[in-house]
Amino acid sequence: MSYLFINLKLCIQILNLINNNMSGNKTLSIIKPGAVRNKHIGHILSKIEENGYTIAAIKTIQLRLEDAAEFYSVHQGKPFYQELIEFMSSGPIIAMVLLKDNAVEDFRKLIGATDPEKAAEGTIRRMFATSKTANAIHGSDSDENAERESSFFFSRQEWLRRTQVGLD
Ligand code: ADP
Ligand code: MG
Repeated sequence: MSYLFINLKLCIQILNLINNNMSGNKTLSIIKPGAVRNKHIGHILSKIEENGYTIAAIKTIQLRLEDAAEFYSVHQGKPFYQELIEFMSSGPIIAMVLLKDNAVEDFRKLIGATDPEKAAEGTIRRMFATSKTANAIHGSDSDENAERESSFFFSRQEWLRRTQVGLD
């Protein structure tokens, strides 16, 4: 009987592990150079924490032009691409891995539309963006990209696990 119970517990732990590594509870965010220059780091981090996210990894870094080009390579060829990568490499940024259930979708709501003029009242972009390019903050748009983008900035040892921060 206890053998069965231990096996069941192990199965649940494995399922949790697969689920946590795969999807739904992690996003990658960047506080962009404009918002850093305008001293909005503190305000933005408060908003993020107030909305239930756990900061699992965080660092200040300045991207080189080629790093920004790689990060935004999906937009290569678009009219705003050059301006975007020049802006993203123009000064320090804050990169972070954020944990929360349904992280990707909820975070996109919290940051608001790409164009700050179209972003809803109370969203981070509405509050802290100065233009469409300098729109204060980045948030991954899918679980797959959250994984890819987290690994772009951090090694796996650098971000805290859900169990470490009491989420599981
Ligand atoms: P989001 O960041 O909302 O996912 P996109 O992935 O479409 O938006 O674009 C990446 C970034 O490129 C945006 O956050 C913004 O900084 C910039 N950008 C997108 N579209 C434009 C545009 N039409 N004009 C200027 N900058 C843009
Ligand atoms: Mg995007």
